Order: sequence, then structure tokens, then C-alpha cells
Amino acid sequence: MNKKTVRDVDLKGKRVLMRVDYNVPIQNGVISDDRRIRETLPTIQYILDQGAALILMSHLGRPAGTGYEAEFSLKPVAERLSELLGRPVKFAPDCIGPEVEAMAAALQPGEVMLLENVRFHKAETKNDPEISRQLAKLGEIFVNDAFGTAHRAQSSTEGVAHYLPAVAGFLMEKELEFLSRATENPERPYVAILGGAKISDKVGVIENLLQKCDRLLIGGGMANTFFKAMGFEVGDSLVEDEAVPTAKAILDSAGSRVVLPVDVVIADAFDNEANTRVVAPNEVPAGWRILDIGPKTVETFKSALTGAKTVVWNGPMGVFEMPRFAEGTFAIARLLAELDATTVIGGGDSASAVKKAGVADKMSHVSTGGGASLEFLEGKVLPGVAALQDK
Ligand code: AMP
Repeated sequence: MNKKTVRDVDLKGKRVLMRVDYNVPIQNGVISDDRRIRETLPTIQYILDQGAALILMSHLGRPAGTGYEAEFSLKPVAERLSELLGRPVKFAPDCIGPEVEAMAAALQPGEVMLLENVRFHKAETKNDPEISRQLAKLGEIFVNDAFGTAHRAQSSTEGVAHYLPAVAGFLMEKELEFLSRATENPERPYVAILGGAKISDKVGVIENLLQKCDRLLIGGGMANTFFKAMGFEVGDSLVEDEAVPTAKAILDSAGSRVVLPVDVVIADAFDNEANTRVVAPNEVPAGWRILDIGPKTVETFKSALTGAKTVVWNGPMGVFEMPRFAEGTFAIARLLAELDATTVIGGGDSASAVKKAGVADKMSHVSTGGGASLEFLEGKVLPGVAALQDK
């Protein structure tokens, strides 16, 4: 990575302002998945060990941006972080303003403070330089460890980096390292697997991956649009008619490097209790819809993955939220777990799928950022990364 990290700066006695992605699921004040908090602990520990005071900032959900809303408060996160760190974590009632500045100035080396949700201010998401400057007043060095929001140019991710020396944290470094390993100089064979609902969301990713990978396996709802492009009738399946020409062009240019499902699980309703059948993709009757890949497809994908040295996976193979249509997605998760390869899982649904399948710890890397990892795979420059100092 050509960006400076916390290792490249002197942190002793400094006040460090660090952007983290603590956008965790919270219901009634209880955090149901604290992975994003735990993933930042190595950077936090390192900064404190260097003798710095640490001010953390994050967003949570999508508040209106007009001030405090209890539902989106980061207070439960401060409490969880304090348990995980085994030390007190102060909590600031806002992210800017004189009171917060005084609290930041009073923070001693080794102390930690979390600011309230940065998105309580609309200016944050607009990357307003005024709020960036106010945030920058709180620290002397800016650390960005929020890979999950690095694809957004906002005051706390990008703007503030213009007013303070800005470096990456360890989580950011790890994410970039694994994702670039998969995209820049992959060990071959390099197989990419894409799924999820729509092809239109992922055209850029498909095109960029096809320039680099040896094989691209496509499942999930997006495969239906390819079937349509091949002239198959797919009943009531999710299809994007306007993307059919794109799918056709991709098939024409990529030829056999694109591997599509050879059988599919179809259902007579979008319902876990629906009647189901396994058929070839050109045998979907009217009134039925494709909701998962079939067992022969799992075997086909298994052969395509044999010997792979690098695998990137983004998007489920079916409607895995319903147990009856989750088997294809879980089967792919288990296949990846058995490979002797660098396996990189794009965040979001694929990350929760490997977790649900119980194989998350068998993957080389499970990204904490869904949107950010997709944009990275698309070859885009992430503004939150671009703003960091070069080595
Ligand atoms: P995405 O956000 O594009 O990665 O899409 C994820 C969503 O795709 C999940 O909620 C899945 O339920 C959905 N999905 C996967 N396969 C299908 C399918 N065959 N038909 C409809 N939705 C699907």
C-alpha cells in the first residue's frame, strides 16, 4: 500500500482523531453484531500504546441530519467499546462545538473518547469544509480506519483529511491489502463469483473483473438477465429487461470465461413455504420464479474453482434470507472454505452468508465494507483513501 499508516507517524503525546465505521445493528439499545467494533481494536490499542489520546468518530444509520435522535445515538457503542477495551470510554454529546472541543483538549494520553453520531449534522454528508475544519480542531493527526465508508467523500472521511496529517489505520490497511491482492496482481487461477439481485448495480464490477480474472461465476438474481439474453423464458423471475443488451454484450465478449448456472431452484411463489422444483434455466414455467442455484450448478462451480489460487466473492447465489433458498449460497461458502487459495469476501450479504454458514474464519479476508469493496472491485478510487498521505 502506498499510503502512510499509523506506523509512519509519531503519535506520542498527540491527540489523535480517528474515523471508524461503527455503523452496527442496534435494537432497543442492544448491539446484535459488534464485529465492526472489534475489528478496530488493534488500531486503537496501538495508538494508546504509543502514548496518544484518542478521539473516535463514526456515523450510525441515516438520521435526518437535524440534530440528536435517540435511535441513532452512538452511546451503546461507547459502552460496548469500553467492555471490549477494558477501560473507560468517554462519550461526547455531539461531534463538534465548544463543549466537545473542551472535552477533547482535556483528554490525557491513554484516554479514549467517542463522539456522538457525525450524521446528526447534515453538513457532514455534504462534505462541508466548515464542519471538516471544526472536526479537525479536535485532534492533531487524523487516522482513517473506516473502510466501510471510504467510498463516500464526507467531512469525517475525506474533508477532515485536508486539515490534518492523515494516515490509515490497520483495518483500512488490511482491507486495501487483501482487495488489491485480488485485483492488482492476483495469484492465478483467479476466479470471481458474483451474485445478488441486479446486474445493473454491478456492470462496472463485472467489466473490471473480466479484465483480470480467469473465470467469472454468476449466480443469484443477476443470472436471470443473462438467461433472458440467451433467449430463455424465465417466468416470474427477477429480470432487468433494460440490462439484457448489456448482458448479451458481456456474454459475447467474455465467452466461456463467464460460467452461468446449469440448474436452478424455482418456486411458485416468493415464499419460503412455496412449492419448489429444480429445473434447467431454459425450463422455467410461466408463473414460477428462480430463487436459488441448483445442485448441478454447485458441482459446476466447484469444478470451476478447483485449483483456484485467488477467489473474490460478492453477492448471494439466491434469496438466502429464506432458508429454503439459502442452500446454494451456503454451498458456495463451504466450497470456498475448503480451497487452498486467497479468498476475499466482499462485505454486505456475502459477509453475512459466510458467517451464517459458519465458515467466516476459514476465509482469508471478510471485508467490513459492502459498498466500498464493490467500488474498489470496480476499479474506482475511494475518496477516503485518496485523501490519505502517500508514503
Ligand atoms: P445485492 O444487494 O445486489 O447483492 O443483492 C442481494 C439480494 O439479492 C439478497 O437480498 C437476495 O435475496 C437477492 N437475490 C439473490 N438471488 C435472487 C433471485 N434469484 N431472485 C431475487 N432476488 C435474489
